[in-house]
Amino acid sequence: MLKGIAASQGIAIAKVYKLVSPTLDIQKKDAVAEEELAKLDAAFKKTVSDIEKIKEVASKSLKEEELAIFDAHLMMANDPEFRGMIEAEITNNNVNAEYAADSVSTMMVSMFESMDDEYMRGRAADIRDVTFRLECNLTGKVIPNLATLDEPVVIVAKDLTPSDTGSLNKEFAKGFATELGGRTSHSAIMARSLEIPAVVGCKGVLDELNNGDTVVLDAINGEVILNPSEEEVAKYTKMAEDYAAEKAALQALKDQKTVSTDGHKVLLVGNIGSPADVAGVNENGGEGVGLFRTEFLYMKSENDFPNEETQFAAYKEVLEGMNGKPVVIRTLDIGGDKKLNYYQFPEEMNPFLGVRAVRFCLMRKDIFRTQLRALLRASAYGHLCIMFPMIATVGEFKEAKQVYDEERAKLIAEGVAVGEDVEVGCMIEIPAAAVLADQLAKYADFFSIGTNDLIQYSMAADRMSEPVSYLYQPMNPSILRLVKMTIDGAHKNGKWCGMCGEMAGDELAAPVLLGLGLDEFSMSATSILKARKIINNISYEDMKKLAEEAVACDTAEEVTELVKKAVA
Ligand code: PEP
Ligand code: MG
Repeated sequence: MLKGIAASQGIAIAKVYKLVSPTLDIQKKDAVAEEELAKLDAAFKKTVSDIEKIKEVASKSLKEEELAIFDAHLMMANDPEFRGMIEAEITNNNVNAEYAADSVSTMMVSMFESMDDEYMRGRAADIRDVTFRLECNLTGKVIPNLATLDEPVVIVAKDLTPSDTGSLNKEFAKGFATELGGRTSHSAIMARSLEIPAVVGCKGVLDELNNGDTVVLDAINGEVILNPSEEEVAKYTKMAEDYAAEKAALQALKDQKTVSTDGHKVLLVGNIGSPADVAGVNENGGEGVGLFRTEFLYMKSENDFPNEETQFAAYKEVLEGMNGKPVVIRTLDIGGDKKLNYYQFPEEMNPFLGVRAVRFCLMRKDIFRTQLRALLRASAYGHLCIMFPMIATVGEFKEAKQVYDEERAKLIAEGVAVGEDVEVGCMIEIPAAAVLADQLAKYADFFSIGTNDLIQYSMAADRMSEPVSYLYQPMNPSILRLVKMTIDGAHKNGKWCGMCGEMAGDELAAPVLLGLGLDEFSMSATSILKARKIINNISYEDMKKLAEEAVACDTAEEVTELVKKAVA
């Protein structure tokens, strides 16, 4: 049995599917041209049929414009000129087909990359992708592809990129186990929003498991059991049924308000990564959206930053899907571990401390303005709250707000409809901002505390680092004091304060956060009903006393004990 971190609850029993990209070692060899031409012909045919198959499966979950990438790849794989150049290389030099393909592709990639036209530069990536597939087919290597899954599996990988998690088909992807990652890594966050069980930070999982092994993924206790016995399968099947029954019972709370036993109301809202996640928030009784991570729109875009129309359509879809309930959309938070295919970030020693989020947007106001225009146009379709991530100073907030005000004024002058009640808030995820919250609250309409980053920066512990993950301590009194300062700062100025970091959905933290006066809790959709059950059964006045005691504790362990005793 392997131990990891239960990042998204649930149980799965299925075959292992390892997601490991093959490595190619292509050497030049003397070869007989006819034989190589025959190999090349077969490999091109397989490459075309692979791409067609992937496209067919993907067409069930992706939109028309997202499928365009497969058409570009098919065009490349069917391009007689590309193929002719490889054939000429084989016949002229009597070399092996994979070497010929590699040299033609290297030459074409550098030619496309040096072009002025943005679109043509983007084609270099297509050539690379298609050639990689062709070379794998020539050398008998298999490229795993999540879009082509056609039986239930547990995916095993070193880590999953946001685009991997984006192409997961829930019908067959029953869960995943990764070597890397923690509760707040992006693959974990995506697993929760997709409601797929996940165990992350599971050391040895890639070495110990082989394709086709049967495995139990116990993403309640963070365990992976290889080749389970019949008794173990029976035990975990029962556990999965109990878990499903508990989830079903919680459905009774779906249309209820979130209100403590003594009448104190709060909002429980959902974190989403794309418009498709709105359905999950509604199905789980969410009272709004507390965080739309818009960076996924940018990461999914293939060749360039998404344009205003694409963004407008996505934001409008979310606002309409929430039907007048509040929707908090965060402006672009890129950088750190979140990269873009089409943009080169500066090399930095510590990217998490460098050009990230609002810092990037203030340096590239053209990109920022496009997003703000799209957001403002969408604001006519619901109750929109916009927030800026990674604000460290009052100056940064004012500068970002100034750009917002300018774009709003321009749109109004153009006669474009914008919402009357748009709120502009500030994420509190840097300790400096938490300490100065009472000042920041004079300018922001609301706060949302991003504890994933607030904890990483307060503890000086990289959220991606497994060895220092013990410092991810939401219940440490130091963190609770920063949370308290932020909430008090907001309330002193008549503003509301939410939380959208993972701590907001932490069952043990909920009573303390209620007692500290948090107004809005934003979490993965699947955590909402459980949180409602907890809050609807405790008293606000009691939790206020509990919170007072908690901030006066020495350690996270003491706080945890205190809460357990108080809500037992
Ligand atoms: C956070 O830092 O808590 C947060 C919500 O933002 P992200 O996890 O996307 O950095
Ligand atoms: Mg953050």
